[in-house]
Amino acid sequence: MLTVECKSLTSATLDYPLFSQRRNTYKLLKLCQIVMNSQELGEYILNMRFEQTKYDNAEVYRRFYSGQERGTNFDGIWQAEINLYRKDNNIIGYTNKGSTIININLCTIPFNDNLIDISYRVGNLIHEYCHLVGLRHAPRWQFWRYWRRKFSAPYRIGNKSRAIAENLLGSGEVEWKDL
Ligand SMILES: [Zn+2]
Repeated sequence: MLTVECKSLTSATLDYPLFSQRRNTYKLLKLCQIVMNSQELGEYILNMRFEQTKYDNAEVYRRFYSGQERGTNFDGIWQAEINLYRKDNNIIGYTNKGSTIININLCTIPFNDNLIDISYRVGNLIHEYCHLVGLRHAPRWQFWRYWRRKFSAPYRIGNKSRAIAENLLGSGEVEWKDL
């Protein structure tokens, strides 16, 4: 069981995040926790073939549920540090090497109540979390490895998470308004 907490929430473009942005971020993280602890995702991680990683499935699984962001305690808690920003490009979110902060671009996908948008956000947040626990993929500039990035652990786990979130919201098993 991985617990997801919001340790900090900042905004690079405003002095502080708006109430609605704050509420949305907390709800997204709650949904992340549900998706990450789903049996479907756990089984996926144990059985899927991941490329661009030196770890076997058991180690990917162990890291994923460790809550050990950038070498912090193995506490089973993802203490999310989120920074909201706006930039007119196609990057949904990113983390910097060595940093525990996940930057979320508010321009690419609207911060709203649309289940497709929410699911994309969840997929991206979990992709970025993978980086925090040491799961990697080829960088953009390695064009000869670039096309296989989609088979890496962060992409595969992120995409699977997006699909699970979409199913949970679409079936009504999880109600966004109740999170
Ligand atoms: Zn990535």
